[in-house]
Amino acid sequence: MIELIRKLSNAHGVSGFEDEIRDIIKAELEGYADEIKMDSMGNLIATRNGSEFELMLAAHMDEIGFVVKKIDDKGFIRIAPIGGWFSQIALAQRVVLYGKQKVYGVIGCKPPHLMKEEERKKAIEISDMFIDVGAKSKEDVISLGIDVGTPVAVDREVAVLANRRITGKAFDNRVGVAVAIEAFRKSKSDATLYFVATVQEEVGLKGAKTSAFALDPDVAIAIDSCVAADFPGSESAQMDITLGKGAVITVIDASGRGLIVSQPVFRWLKETAEKYRIPYQLEVAEGGTTDATAINLTKSGIPAGVVSVPARYIHSPVEVVDMGDVESAVELVARASENAKDYFRVRK
Ligand SMILES: [Zn+2]
Repeated sequence: MIELIRKLSNAHGVSGFEDEIRDIIKAELEGYADEIKMDSMGNLIATRNGSEFELMLAAHMDEIGFVVKKIDDKGFIRIAPIGGWFSQIALAQRVVLYGKQKVYGVIGCKPPHLMKEEERKKAIEISDMFIDVGAKSKEDVISLGIDVGTPVAVDREVAVLANRRITGKAFDNRVGVAVAIEAFRKSKSDATLYFVATVQEEVGLKGAKTSAFALDPDVAIAIDSCVAADFPGSESAQMDITLGKGAVITVIDASGRGLIVSQPVFRWLKETAEKYRIPYQLEVAEGGTTDATAINLTKSGIPAGVVSVPARYIHSPVEVVDMGDVESAVELVARASENAKDYFRVRK
């Protein structure tokens, strides 16, 4: 499982530019689905044929990143953020630009030697940052296949920490994708199963919206990562989500403006976790939401829930998850897919 996460996390796929990561996911599903296709939005949809009852697993494959906004005469590249960044995290990162070929670069920063006392205390805006690809001029940059609109992703490889914890970039949501792939492979459900690796979640739940409309499943689970609030400084969030305490079942996210999970969905996920003795935690969150919100509001309303893996330092290149939580999430999604028909009916 660590190897699958490593493969998915090390790969790139900024929102709207998911080609590389989609190919990797497709290869992982080969042999486990009756059909794998891509829709016009770029979502990857794997179908395993079964009964009339249809269940959708959705995990977004996009990651936050940047896009080239301007190239100056000296060959420095200005960028615009894609998705939710805290600017200080972007500084001093090594990045990959996807022009005609892969080009490495760095987000440059002034050394402390050149900073005035007041400057050191100030946060630097992304609009003041630039990428250095080693070019000497604008023409030099363009000759590397880079232009306005070229996507930029953070480049960071997975490393294993103590206590079966791992760190890497884009665990939101490549860890969720890994969980969904593994649950899709393991599930013994006789329902028709869809696994959708959705696009553009980080910029407005877009792929989930269109794919849920097309599939109109009887019930859906979004698999994502969520904020663990168990590290120094996170106490003020007054949340109980802790690394190593199991998969997270969402009750409410975005203070209810996102998802308020329906009681049948809540019972389904919670009772499944209890029946199979799968460690789980319940989440009420004020910020952030998931693909389940978009799926839930599709057509006449599709019952949708969220199973997530808690992650520390989310939306940074050093996210940390616990493999025990990953395994709990796989187990919960697989078992829930098998007993979904005890809780929901065919709606069509
Ligand atoms: Zn996410």
